[in-house]
Amino acid sequence: MDRETLPPHVLLFPLPLQGPVNSTFKLAELLCLAGLHITVLLTEDIHSRLLRNANTQSRFDRYPGFQLKTIPDGLPENHSRSGDKFMELFDSLKSKTKSLFKEMLTYGAGGLSSETRRPVSFIIADGILGFTCDVAQELGIPIVYIRTISPCCLWVFFCLPKLIEAGELPFAGDDLDTLIKSIPGTENFLRRRDLPDFCRLGDLSHENIQLYKTESQENARAYGLILNTFEELDELVLSHMRTVCPNLYTIGPLHAHLKTKLSKETTSNPASSSSSSLWKEDMSCLTWLDSQPSRSVIYVSFGSIATLTKEQLMEFWHGLVNSGIKFLWVIRPDSIAGKGWENQIPAELLEGTKQRGYIVSWAPQEKVLEHAAIGGFWTHNGWNSTLESIYAGVPMICWPYFIDQLVNSRFVSEVWKLGLDMKDTCDRAVVEKMVRELMEVRKEEFLKRADEMAKLARRCLCEGEGGSSLSNLDRLIRDIHSMSE
Ligand code: UDP
Repeated sequence: MDRETLPPHVLLFPLPLQGPVNSTFKLAELLCLAGLHITVLLTEDIHSRLLRNANTQSRFDRYPGFQLKTIPDGLPENHSRSGDKFMELFDSLKSKTKSLFKEMLTYGAGGLSSETRRPVSFIIADGILGFTCDVAQELGIPIVYIRTISPCCLWVFFCLPKLIEAGELPFAGDDLDTLIKSIPGTENFLRRRDLPDFCRLGDLSHENIQLYKTESQENARAYGLILNTFEELDELVLSHMRTVCPNLYTIGPLHAHLKTKLSKETTSNPASSSSSSLWKEDMSCLTWLDSQPSRSVIYVSFGSIATLTKEQLMEFWHGLVNSGIKFLWVIRPDSIAGKGWENQIPAELLEGTKQRGYIVSWAPQEKVLEHAAIGGFWTHNGWNSTLESIYAGVPMICWPYFIDQLVNSRFVSEVWKLGLDMKDTCDRAVVEKMVRELMEVRKEEFLKRADEMAKLARRCLCEGEGGSSLSNLDRLIRDIHSMSE
């Protein structure tokens, strides 16, 4: 086949974490459906975890233009790569992976191009991997960034220099309820408390401040920025962001976008039974949910990175059991700091859980949130979890763990009015009160609001109603074609 007539070849390079990997696979499949040739480039560590736990490759078997490739992240095999070790991963990617990345693109090393596949003609990389833009520009390959965190937090990152200039950062003392004034659009509700946690350290030289300040400003270097959101949800910050990055592709919620496209196909739907989970999903919780009344269960999960101390675990557990509400709780095996907690659980908690609870180590979360028995989600507000909850019409209790989650939880409670913010507290009485408030006292109010927002989310994916996310994806695909020529 004449190589010039082959479709554009897009390379996607996600940040090696569960959330970005999930979003990247969804986008990859959407682009496969549009007939493009796709390479997803994963770190070797993520690739081997996927092989162990998910059926990712088989999900893509029906797309001949799809391939998975790997690149080392430069860390030793036994490195944990999570929690506070993330910066080490990030530094290693920057210092060791960059040259390999360039080599792959220059020489088509590792099978990046072949007889039936053009050399990479377009790159979509996580916007925090700024080195990908250096390489792309050097080699003359067009690049668009994808940011899988929330636009509201990204906007805070964009404004970090402004905050410093205005003297709002660093702040000393503990008056965390002071409003922040120098982030356009959020002056009336965003407090010091709602900024990414590293802002509280009072240290402008902190590696995170430096990282997010520069990397986010970097985003304007790429041709455009793909965001996992929809216009109606984030209109407040998107209009401001466009003054810095004019070319935004808002194509989310990605998980729902893909489902919508697949449901239009007449063939069986392989994506509905597959995932890109880095842990094994325990499907038995769906059977348990089947036997629960409508909107009676609160789903509890703090995502793939957050860890709890034993004390926090106990406060949460007592609060949940004392609320009297049924709960489905994800406790990841590596999510509790320290060993031996399994043998120290008080009898009343075991009894309360037996009566009203179900605990798994990893759940099929999208399916759980769409289950009729779920009436609330106690979440850490990772952006994927937040969007999945919004799309499913499930109100939230927010217990943000770090970085963007602190901003997201403020938007959930104050801007979108979709739940309650438990930020900075960890007390069984507060947990009990909030769970009751969400699931009983203000249940109808929150469900109504969540339903309205879910309808807006559906509309952005609706052809007849000029769905914004649909048309933005079409625009991205057109741009890939024209820039790949
Ligand atoms: N997730 C899941 N099962 C679980 C917990 C989480 O499938 O038991 C998925 C969830 O659906 C989401 C992702 O893991 O897509 C977590 O991403 P998020 O951005 O919410 O948080 P992070 O893990 O990055 O902190």
